[in-house]
Amino acid sequence: MTKQVLNAYKVRLYPIEDQQLFFTKSFGCTRFIWNKMLNDKIEYYKENKTELKNTPAQYKTEFEWLKEVDSLALDNVQQNLRSAYSKFFKQGAGFPKFKKKGQKDSYTTNNQKGTVAVTNTTVKLPRIGHIKAKIHRSINGLIKSATISKTPSGKYYVSLLVETVVSLLPKTHSNIGIDLGLTHFIVLSDGSKVANPKFLASLQDKLGREQKILAKRRLVASNQQRKLSDSKNYQKQRLKVAKVYEKITHTRKDFLHKLSFNIIKNHDVIAIEDLNVKGMVKNRKLAKAISDSSWSTFTTMLAYKAEWYGKALVKIDRWYPSSKTCSGCGHVLTKEELPLSVRSWDCPFCLQNNDRDINASINILNEGLRCLKLKEPLVQGS
Ligand SMILES: [Zn+2]
Repeated sequence: MTKQVLNAYKVRLYPIEDQQLFFTKSFGCTRFIWNKMLNDKIEYYKENKTELKNTPAQYKTEFEWLKEVDSLALDNVQQNLRSAYSKFFKQGAGFPKFKKKGQKDSYTTNNQKGTVAVTNTTVKLPRIGHIKAKIHRSINGLIKSATISKTPSGKYYVSLLVETVVSLLPKTHSNIGIDLGLTHFIVLSDGSKVANPKFLASLQDKLGREQKILAKRRLVASNQQRKLSDSKNYQKQRLKVAKVYEKITHTRKDFLHKLSFNIIKNHDVIAIEDLNVKGMVKNRKLAKAISDSSWSTFTTMLAYKAEWYGKALVKIDRWYPSSKTCSGCGHVLTKEELPLSVRSWDCPFCLQNNDRDINASINILNEGLRCLKLKEPLVQGS
């Protein structure tokens, strides 16, 4: 059986000078039209108490240079603004913000009968043509849209949204529970533990060191009463930090993709805890924050891959006492009986020796299977 899904491919671009100029102009125009339309909406609302229905086309006479960029990019701004407004009114999200230069420079365009295309060495985009690119894997399927972006360290990327057909993976008749480990990245109910990758730890150390240097340079500039934009040393260091950060993001994603795919491939039901990651990510300690956001990315990947490949992901209540319950007999310890420092314990009732994390993942699996039975028709892919 096959299924049609939307898959994102991120490709590094190597634009020549003219093309870079076009991108800069496009980032500028989309940012301008966002800010202009938003501002006019706000002002109009103050006077008329209703929303102004404005479109990018209305601004092209007054600001003729808007005609120099891809008009679909401007249309997408209008759509994004509309969805930001609707999120504000219907979902209680924050009010749309003005965009600043250099913050998330990007624009999105659409494929209209081949205006966006990929060859072995290039990506073709509307109004600008072929741009040299590094294509890692073949892109199969209909390209829907392309989002061009520039990172703080000056690299260009295009993210292509592609309609792809995936085949359901065969059933393995194996189920698994996953616990977010304290000493490991994850611990599985089959007894295996997946370590946090070593390269990630060393990159995190490096990021910490470079950030400290950056803070010092900021202090030096402020002591000399110089603007940060004029301080060459500060700017050089800022670039260095951005590069390490990008490397972490990239390597981490790669690791999480491989891990989540392997779990989905080898099991039919995957049970995890529904953790409150929003609260977790606010943690100030850098290494902790990164591992928490890894967990959130990881569960997102598990969720969509389970749906793609016909497997079931069950999230269990985060208040379920997965660590404190003995997986052998169901006896529940008190908080005092199981402090965080205890890595392994003997159950006072059935005497089973429990490795803290493995025991938790076994409980997560059992609880997951129980939940699945209760609401079976609701779970996708089962
Ligand atoms: Zn027990």
